[in-house]
Amino acid sequence: MAAPGHPVFTDTSLDKFFARRISAPLLTLAVATLLAAAGNLKFWSTLTAAAGGLSLAHLPLLAGAFLIIVLFFNACLTLASFRFVAKPVLIVLVLMASAASYFIAAYGIVIDRAMIQNVFETDVREATELFSWHLVLTVGLLGLLPSIWIARAEIRFPQGLRGLLGRVGIAGGSLLLAGLLLMIFFKSLAPALREHRELRLLLTPTNTIQALHGYLRSKWSTPVVVAPLGRDAMKGAAWRGQARRTVTVIVVGETARAMNFSLNGYKRETNPLLARQQGLINFSNVSSCGTATAVSVPCVFSAFGQDNYSEAKASSQEGLLDVLAHAGFSVLWRDNNSGCKGVCARVAYEDLSQPGPNARFCEGDECYDERLLEGLPELIRKSTKDLVIVLHQKGSHGPAYAKRYPQGFGRFSPVCDSIEFEKCSRDSIVAAYDNTILYTDYFLSKTIDLLRDTAASEGVDTAMLYFSDHGESLGENNLYLHGAPYMFAPAEQTRVPMMLWMSDHFSERFRIDRTCLMARRTEPLSHDNVFHSVLGLLDVNTAVLNPKLDLFHACTRGS
Ligand SMILES: [Zn+2]
Repeated sequence: MAAPGHPVFTDTSLDKFFARRISAPLLTLAVATLLAAAGNLKFWSTLTAAAGGLSLAHLPLLAGAFLIIVLFFNACLTLASFRFVAKPVLIVLVLMASAASYFIAAYGIVIDRAMIQNVFETDVREATELFSWHLVLTVGLLGLLPSIWIARAEIRFPQGLRGLLGRVGIAGGSLLLAGLLLMIFFKSLAPALREHRELRLLLTPTNTIQALHGYLRSKWSTPVVVAPLGRDAMKGAAWRGQARRTVTVIVVGETARAMNFSLNGYKRETNPLLARQQGLINFSNVSSCGTATAVSVPCVFSAFGQDNYSEAKASSQEGLLDVLAHAGFSVLWRDNNSGCKGVCARVAYEDLSQPGPNARFCEGDECYDERLLEGLPELIRKSTKDLVIVLHQKGSHGPAYAKRYPQGFGRFSPVCDSIEFEKCSRDSIVAAYDNTILYTDYFLSKTIDLLRDTAASEGVDTAMLYFSDHGESLGENNLYLHGAPYMFAPAEQTRVPMMLWMSDHFSERFRIDRTCLMARRTEPLSHDNVFHSVLGLLDVNTAVLNPKLDLFHACTRGS
């Protein structure tokens, strides 16, 4: 027993603070809130700016976003809420988030794979340069203090089957509520997240986890060896004894959805020029491989098809453009988008998306799709080979639809010219989008005119195949933009336009039966048909061609 006047060191008030009993769900929710708030100061300031500044009007949106993130973190943390697992996981996350939050705020860095590589491969001198008292203070207050608290806490975990069901209920309920809030705020949040992709890299600790995962995966993975495909490819019978060269243009559209093409029955006249193009065959029932460029573009040029496609498979096997090169075509990819996603790695590539000095068809930092046609007639004239030219459009890329077309194409109005969708009516967003389709109509029609003229003046046989990579939601069920998981994606995001134009000489030479093709134009088709149909169209013989997916197989006379 201690004598009066002698303090008892085993039970100080500090000890009391650090030895709390707490139920596991409450602790999880507290840590989720701490991570969302204190660990993400830069994220919140960026989102606030992206949403249009801090004002009373934007408060519900920001509060909604905060709740969504807390609920999402809570659901994830609940899955780790077991004895012996919870404490180390929570402590590591809290420490990691405090350090990340400091570096993001102090240096304006983003946490990605390259940054993690820097951290792992830096030397001691560099590391000590980063050390500061500010770092100690931030990590101490936001990381260490909560960590000590968690380490000393007496956590009461719900036991048995009831405890297990309770966790499932909390995780499921949190996700459900987060999903509900996301639906309510989607119109405002989606454009901000799309335009400010850095937000994804600012959200701690998911950024660090993602970056660590990417770093370790690339460190331990064996380098990708690209397997050859269609090395047996050869030009078939239709090529024998032909003196005329061929030029085939494949236009890869961006975010164009089928239902807003008047060729497919849309109420607004968005295709006035294509409607007058003689011999154009419009396929009205085509679905995309994915709902995002990064999926659809590699998928459509791969031999895998939607069911067997994966990013890893596509990047480790040659694709359509390689097979065409093996068959002797000269292949060129011209880009006004964000690159070819690996599809054109082994063929010629031109980036036309950056306005250089004296660049025509550019305004500010934006280049209109017409630029993809610049110099094309000369290029065709100078070449001595059969050409396949891919034109990758910027198309209808959102949310800044109004930036995608020159002024003269603003036929439908009033248009939404803000990326803050909550400031715009749905009609004005659709009007801006429809103007992008009107411009694409002009661009495709101009491409066909160019190919028709070249066919006549240069004596080459020409054709154009156009399809879009995926569609777009424009407020149907309060959904905007694209990228929904395919299983749940609405038709607005998965139904794409596709059309074919051939010069008369071209269709005669390859003996393509137009009447037969016209009869197939409402058949259900998909991106899966593209790989095989391009080879079929150009009469390329190879074992990788699947005649069942070749649109032209049944429509070639004498086959
Ligand atoms: Zn896209």
